[in-house]
Amino acid sequence: MVQPYKQRQPGSREQRRADERAAAKQKGAEPIKAATLATPNGHQHSEAFCLMWYACACGHRERIWNSRDGVTPFGFVCPSCKEPKLQHVDWREDSYAPNHQPSSGQRVWVDLTRERARTIAQRTIDQVAKSQQVPAHDFERIVDTVFNNGTAPDLVIWGYVEAS
Ligand SMILES: [Zn+2]
Repeated sequence: MVQPYKQRQPGSREQRRADERAAAKQKGAEPIKAATLATPNGHQHSEAFCLMWYACACGHRERIWNSRDGVTPFGFVCPSCKEPKLQHVDWREDSYAPNHQPSSGQRVWVDLTRERARTIAQRTIDQVAKSQQVPAHDFERIVDTVFNNGTAPDLVIWGYVEAS
């Protein structure tokens, strides 16, 4: 007599195991790969040395080069409309360009310098001071936070030289 409820069903069990393996692979392997292992190009960050498109709802669009193996923000202030709506778009068109020579005027992601971190920290404190009493603080610790061991991104205009 056939007792289906007692019978093993190797086909479906095998299928389930395959599904579990696939699910585990997707759940575990991908984020680990992104976070701790090198990218296919041998870097720590997938956006390392990539040319990336940024666009804003106002119509502004530009391609920014990441000059280092470091993080870049997803969105920031648009230079055309001043709204914080310039965003990394068309991710599939990111192109790996380690030998890219920026054109004069192109914007480029660089590592934040400690000097720039100081400027940003001071600007933030000044901003707070406009509306409230700034509590006692350790300025260098605030600078450390902004600087983030030199891994924080900064954006510079390639070829731009400040007047002295
Ligand atoms: Zn805009």
